[in-house]
Amino acid sequence: MVKIDIKSLSLAELQQEMENIGEKKFRAAQLYEWMHRKLARDFSEMTNLSLSLREKCGEHFDLTVLKPVRVQESKTDGTKKFLFELPDGNLVESVLMKYHHGNSVCISSQVGCRMGCRFCASTLGGLVRSLTAGEMLDQIYAVTHHTGERISNVVVMGIGEPLDNRENLLRFIKMLTDEDGLHISQRNITVSTCGLVPEIRKLAEERLQITLALSLHGVSDEKRRELMPIAEKYSIGELMDACRYYFEKTGRRITFEYALAGGVNDTEADAKGLILLASSLHAHVNLIPINPVKERTYTASGREAVRAFQKKLTDAGINATLRREMGRDIDGACGQLRRNYG
Ligand code: SAH
Repeated sequence: MVKIDIKSLSLAELQQEMENIGEKKFRAAQLYEWMHRKLARDFSEMTNLSLSLREKCGEHFDLTVLKPVRVQESKTDGTKKFLFELPDGNLVESVLMKYHHGNSVCISSQVGCRMGCRFCASTLGGLVRSLTAGEMLDQIYAVTHHTGERISNVVVMGIGEPLDNRENLLRFIKMLTDEDGLHISQRNITVSTCGLVPEIRKLAEERLQITLALSLHGVSDEKRRELMPIAEKYSIGELMDACRYYFEKTGRRITFEYALAGGVNDTEADAKGLILLASSLHAHVNLIPINPVKERTYTASGREAVRAFQKKLTDAGINATLRREMGRDIDGACGQLRRNYG
């Protein structure tokens, strides 16, 4: 018998499953609370359920729990990187970042990635599979469990392309923001995409209040194609139309992520192009000095060049922030996550 992945079920689905195994519907709410509020790691912890029900659950359901096989802590900023083992033995990474305004977890959405961005470590071995909603949720639950830290913000910017895993992503967002679960506000969730145009349009239809971040990195089709294979498929024009549509449907401003690589995309012309694109969409720009990846050749723009680039944007009235390179010493920064021991 194939067991049901109980952590990926909505409360309504869980109620149905309880009926299917001959249990009262209200048991579902108790189980749901144990999993998604009390973050129980095993059916045996669910002490207000009878022993026989706990055993029955073990027979019918798999309770997804991620095992931290390595935890590294940054000496410079306290960022923690977790290498988690999934129930099938695959590995993904998640990162806990502490900010003044609260704790943020960066989670993975897939084992590997098939997008092939030329500056990113996560895509080196291709895509193995997408994560389930339960596996995405449990990255947050496991980080909370192992650190005792309350999480207020979640960014889906770890390994994988979240919009290449839309259904599980949507299920994950609904469950994470549900009042029966951790009840994190949609506004505290950011989903980052390399720019899958049809998927951005579909996501817009959901009218969520999450922040959508677009990994832009180049302001001409030519430059973008050099850096990101996905740019062969969708032009910047099509991408901007999809982002405009997203903004119109949701009222939420897009964030452009722009990783600065020295001598590659940090020229005067690049800044001008970025100003035009960002102002046409009222987008916020997040600059990231590109993080080193040993198999890749790109190097970050120098500190001065980064500041000067940012100043050009802000002088033109663009809201441009500089991302702190948190966790770089433990390869926990953007583009440095991988599905193995590195
Ligand atoms: N697939 C999604 C989310 C994962 S990557 C996406 O492409 O947006 C999260 C962010 O890190 C993206 O903006 C990505 O382009 C960026 N990134 C990847 N490699 C990087 C590197 N070496 N330095 C800085 N940012 C990088």
